[in-house]
Amino acid sequence: MEKPDVRELIRAEGFRFDKSLGQNFVFDGNLLGAIAADAGVCADDTVVEIGTGAGTLTAALAERAGRVISFEVDERLRDILSLSLQGRENVEVVFRDVLRMKDAEISEITGGKPFRVVANLPYCVTSPMIMRFVESTLPVTGITVMVQKEVADRLCAAPATPDYAAVTLAVKIFGDAVVTRTVSRKMFLPPPNVDSAVVRIDRVAGRLAGENAALIKKLVRAGFAMRRKTLVNNLCAALSLPREKAEAAVVAAGFSPMVRGETLSLDGYVALSHAVERVTEGVI
Ligand code: SAM
Repeated sequence: MEKPDVRELIRAEGFRFDKSLGQNFVFDGNLLGAIAADAGVCADDTVVEIGTGAGTLTAALAERAGRVISFEVDERLRDILSLSLQGRENVEVVFRDVLRMKDAEISEITGGKPFRVVANLPYCVTSPMIMRFVESTLPVTGITVMVQKEVADRLCAAPATPDYAAVTLAVKIFGDAVVTRTVSRKMFLPPPNVDSAVVRIDRVAGRLAGENAALIKKLVRAGFAMRRKTLVNNLCAALSLPREKAEAAVVAAGFSPMVRGETLSLDGYVALSHAVERVTEGVI
């Protein structure tokens, strides 16, 4: 298919980038193809893209995927997209704000089928967008996103490192995350103030099967609530547990009473959830 010069197209249309929507577009065909390859997109995949922009990543995804459904909040892109994606039969652009859509609305559009999420995410809403999909009930098989380098480091961080955060564990509950490439700020128009990286998160189905997922998520939130406090102190505050019970749970889970929440792995939080359940049932 003949490729339109999309950069020229947006110039000709007099398009003005909206910083508040995180509009930093990518035009480099090699990079766009590499992102689609990093995501592992193949011919029988349905891909959900967040933020169509001028349709450049959309087109690269459409080269590999069975179907691409791309969500864009900015209606001003309608005319540009009708030209840049002209003739791409497997692409559907939906002008909606993904953060305001319910799972059921997305499911209706995807036909309830499993899908991969791929996006050059708008910087302004990176974390809510990732959380929206890792915590959804939708059949998401994987998430590949280009994000600020520092966010990528946080998503893939190991316990007890400065980048390790509650979002690291939220992602870990969903699946395994790796940085597939770093991307210079020079690759974007307009260039942002920071470099970026592509993170691929492969779902690990049933990672918390048989566990009290709601309690584990609550404990993670508590564990990271105040980073400089001990886990015991954070549990007392967040769960309204008497100090001796919080301490008994932490020790029963195999940790020192002085341990900090940001040093526990997901397995550590699972062990803690078992101990907290026993403490609240009066077994310990
Ligand atoms: N995919 C294009 C690319 O790679 O060049 C555009 C990426 S740009 C970083 C992010 C896009 O997301 C922008 O076009 C912006 O308008 C759109 N966007 C921002 N918030 C959104 C939301 N809540 N729902 C859907 N799209 C959104």
